[in-house]
Amino acid sequence: MRTLGILGGMSWESSAQLYKLLNREVAQRLGGLHSADVLMRSLNFAEVAALQRSGDWAGAALMLGTAGRALGEAGAQALLIATNTMHKVAEEVEAQSGLPLIHIVDATAAGLKAAGVRRAGLLATRYTMEEDFYRDRMRVRHDIELIVPEPEQRQELHRIIFEELCQGQVLAESRAFYLQTVQALAAQGAQGVILGCTEICLLLGPDTAAALPLFDSTALQARAAVEWMLGGTTDA
Ligand code: GLU
Repeated sequence: MRTLGILGGMSWESSAQLYKLLNREVAQRLGGLHSADVLMRSLNFAEVAALQRSGDWAGAALMLGTAGRALGEAGAQALLIATNTMHKVAEEVEAQSGLPLIHIVDATAAGLKAAGVRRAGLLATRYTMEEDFYRDRMRVRHDIELIVPEPEQRQELHRIIFEELCQGQVLAESRAFYLQTVQALAAQGAQGVILGCTEICLLLGPDTAAALPLFDSTALQARAAVEWMLGGTTDA
């Protein structure tokens, strides 16, 4: 099995989910006592979030790139950034770490394509919904068009992520708000909805009844990572 390096802690709540999914998937495929061979650097999310808020993306890239390089030196053979938002600096992190990246957009696109979805709604942080890095890669590399919610909805989705989910709070009214937003995206022509923030799986699980099929970036990235660990490539 290949050794995976994980840049986690963004937030630790979602890294814990990812860690479970990686181990379960490896155990399912190999059976018995098999588990995932990983090295995780779990950062202090308060420091990362402060860099995001101040727009210091170069500082964030340096922080993640340095941590990624250390994972490579410790034996990791590829890198996974366990957050959608921080893929804004994915290229810099890949270059600084010298490790190939299991990119969350490519992993998520693989799930959408398998289901025949070409027009997807996106639920995520404001950084991911409003900036180009995520949408452009989906369009240019995967020919998938993204639809984002209205500005007031984006504000509330973002607030719930940082003030609740990243702090382990899972509230029924927030689940209802997310499901209403899925409905609005269906009315705008989306064929499916990306849970494009790694904490949303705390709120909407595989069994949640929603107006559209949901594509969880945490689960899809975990699946792509296990494919790679057990012998595939980093191209999801
Ligand atoms: N984990 C979230 C994401 O997937 C948000 C936390 C962050 O800003 O990194 O985007």
